[in-house]
Order: sequence, then C-alpha cells, then structure tokens
Amino acid sequence: MIINQEVTPIQELSNPIFEQNGVRLFIKRDDLNHPAISGNKLRKLKYNLIKAKEQGHTKLLTFGGAYSNHIYAVAAAGAEFGFETIAIIRGEEHLPLNPTLSFASSKGMKIDYMDRTTFRQKDNEDVLEKIKEKWGDFYHVPMGGSNDLAIPGVIELATEIKNQIPDLNYICTACGTGGTMAGIIAGSDKDTKILGFPALKGGEFLAKDIDQYLHLHQNNELPDWELICDYHFGGYAKKKPELLEFIEKIQSEYQIELEFIYTAKMLYGVFDLIKKGYFPKGSKIVAVHTGGLQINKKGE
Ligand SMILES: *Cc1c(COP(=O)(O)O)cnc(C)c1O
Repeated sequence: MIINQEVTPIQELSNPIFEQNGVRLFIKRDDLNHPAISGNKLRKLKYNLIKAKEQGHTKLLTFGGAYSNHIYAVAAAGAEFGFETIAIIRGEEHLPLNPTLSFASSKGMKIDYMDRTTFRQKDNEDVLEKIKEKWGDFYHVPMGGSNDLAIPGVIELATEIKNQIPDLNYICTACGTGGTMAGIIAGSDKDTKILGFPALKGGEFLAKDIDQYLHLHQNNELPDWELICDYHFGGYAKKKPELLEFIEKIQSEYQIELEFIYTAKMLYGVFDLIKKGYFPKGSKIVAVHTGGLQINKKGE
C-alpha cells in the first residue's frame, strides 16, 4: 500500500513582538497535508494502515468522542485506502448526526455507541471480545490513534521540519494523548527542545504516557522536552473570549485557520511565552499546525 504525502509547507510569521524579543516563529502547515485526514491524524495512522493491510485486515475499528478528529480521519482513511470502518462512540446516539459523524457515515463508517462506564474499559480484552462477536474480526486502532506504530509516522513529520529549518531551537505542539509529541521528540535532534501544550487540565500526567510511547526509541539521544500546562483555558474543549479573539486575530493577520480545542491553545501559549521572554534571543521556533479543522465546519 502506498500512502502519498507531499511535504507540507512551513510559513514564517512576522510580528513586532517577535522582533522585540529577538525570535523567529514558523508554522509547520501540516493542516494542509490532506483535505480530510488532517494533520497529525494521518501521520499517526500511516503505519497502522500499512500494518493492517499486511495482516490482511479489511476492517478498522476505533473509538472516540462524537466530535473526534480521529473518528473523522479514520472514516476518510478507510474510504481512501479500502477498509471498512467502524466507530464506537462514547455515550448515547443523538440524531440527527452532528457534522463529524454525518461526514463519517457518508464515508461508509458504521457507527455504534457505548455507555460511558463500559467505554472506560474499552481496551480490556473481554470488552474487545464482545465487540468482535458483534462486528467480526478487525484491526483495532486505539482512541486518538496513538500507539507504537503511530510514532514512526510522526518521526517523518519531525524529519521534514528539520530539513526545512535546519538550525531550529524549539518545536511546539498541542497534546491530547501525547503520541504526536512523543513522535516529534523521537524524530528531533538533541539540540532542539520540544514543548508540548496539553489541551486538557492537569496535563502533567501526560509525561509518563509520553515516556511510554518513547520506550522503543530510548537508544537515540533524545532531545529535552517539557510540558507547558498553563494554556488549557479551563479544560478540554473549553473556550474563553480571549481564545476566540486570538483565533480571529490569527485568521485576519496571517490567513491561518485554527480550532479552539488544540491548535489555538498551543499557539496562544507560544505567543504568550514569546512576550514573557521565555525563549532566548536568536531562537528559531517552529509551531506545528496539527490540523483538526473539521471541528469548525457547521455541516454542509
Ligand atoms: C488529536 C489532535 C491533537 C493531539 O494529538 P495527540 O497525539 O493525541 O497528542 C493535536 N492537535 C489536533 C488538531 C488534533 O486533532
């Protein structure tokens, strides 16, 4: 199976606060990698799709929330690369389907629901066995798409970035499960520091998950990394007026669309850290646009 990916562009932003603080900021436009399998979700799926094909699977099954970028991406990837897809959604069915699930369903994805209590145990063998009785054999893509096979796809992203900006000092990314951050760490040079911005409150716990995703990559000399946990704006999918204003400002000044769950919080944090003088003078900073813009669509 061949998954064609063009190298996504990198765009430098200009702003007086960057000049005042002596830094340069670049956005890795990974949101432009594919119209539907956007940003980091395609990076993380790539080697899972290849493995699924190798093992002769015809069905992908995954889990997610009703607005999940991952569900959207798996539905589109299944249609494009020839897999049936099944989504197990947390909670009850709500009709009509929201734009995310309605897109997924239009791509042929079968949608099933699981109560929140069982959903918490979804990775247990007996729960997976029950699902197999209902849906037959499948390749299990974990919720959010992060697993060991997600990492090599994200390493390719980090490799692109270092070819585009050879002597960069920082790479910044939003974090949900931490899989993307782990891949960027695994794929970056020792003298680049990786900053992760958790989209949820209390994101400190992600450090151990990130370490876990890195367990196959500990032989390499890994760069330093840090979780910056101050920009969750109240918690996962919570928004505040200053975040929405920031999204509008970035749209009008740079023609870059952000969404409020991940990318806006991360970039808001990067701008704020620049203003506060966090980055030494002369720093070259890359912020990764991890995509996810389907959430902004209000339906066709
Ligand atoms: C899923 C997602 C993330 C989080 O990625 P993880 O690998 O789970 O940390 C970040 N940004 C966007 C746009 C996403 O859709």
